[in-house]
Amino acid sequence: AERRRTAGVRGPGRTSDGHPVKLLLNVGSAADLRPPRGLPAVDAEGVGLFRTEFLFLDRREEPGYEEQVAAYEAVFRAAPGGHVVVRTLDAGTDKPLPFLDLPGEANPALGVRGLRVSRVRPRVLDTQLDAVAEAARASGTEPWVMAPMVTTVEEAADFARRARARGITRVGAMVEVPAAALRAARLLDELDFLSIGTNDLSQYAFAADRQHGDLADLLDPWQPALLRLVADCAAAGRAAGKPVGVCGEAAADPLLAGVLVGLGVTSLSMSAPSVAPVRESLAALSLERCRDNARLALDADGPAQARDMVIPGSAAGS
Ligand code: PEP
Ligand code: MG
Repeated sequence: AERRRTAGVRGPGRTSDGHPVKLLLNVGSAADLRPPRGLPAVDAEGVGLFRTEFLFLDRREEPGYEEQVAAYEAVFRAAPGGHVVVRTLDAGTDKPLPFLDLPGEANPALGVRGLRVSRVRPRVLDTQLDAVAEAARASGTEPWVMAPMVTTVEEAADFARRARARGITRVGAMVEVPAAALRAARLLDELDFLSIGTNDLSQYAFAADRQHGDLADLLDPWQPALLRLVADCAAAGRAAGKPVGVCGEAAADPLLAGVLVGLGVTSLSMSAPSVAPVRESLAALSLERCRDNARLALDADGPAQARDMVIPGSAAGS
């Protein structure tokens, strides 16, 4: 019965009482939008995170302008509803690219990565923004564009200026650094939306390398301190009337998805296999239940207690 119910819930994401929550996809290329043979297309409302670095990795030379336009256009054309949130290049010494030719660093995760690369190689970002704008014109879509690793209001304003100068209308930032979460309201004076990258936000809030298996408990997305940062960003979004989504792994946990919605998040972006279980979970929870669960999770001593205390939805949607 459980299986049939999952298959039965389709269409836009919503709670049992109809509160809309956009369910979006994380992709690296247009190929990620083609369903495996024999399976129906994923029922999502767009792409919430297009990780453009996949075009740049394992390359001796920077991909050319035309190649970038073609790759972006393919994603814009293939995305459900033509809705795509493009993330500009997230590379640096943690994801080294030969053509960037950056000096080695003792702490690459704390070094020149993400948007910070544009401090030393500004042309790479400008070319990418030009290519995104051209692909948008060619496909007749209006992509949203955001930068990774934004840390200060000045960085957000500079990125927004460069993107808007090219006709990009929806400009945002990923919130992956606690300093950005603490300034979410001010960031939204400069930007149209925020997308919380819980993978890096956990790493930087808990001072725990995201690859470090022995520290998995600190990186657990149910950590109340992480949820507090999410709550503050969502509150800033509500006050500004601007969208605040989550695109890290946290969004793919069906029970946590309801908590994030209760905290005020307006979209959840995840890899394709997680969409159906998350949609199903939300469809069984009222917005009030999501808010109650969010309060319980925020007040918990830790992730295990938070998981224990929240109340999953029922088929009746309580
Ligand atoms: C994140 O940090 O949560 C995120 C979505 O970006 P990535 O996993 O690509 O670093
Ligand atoms: Mg990240």
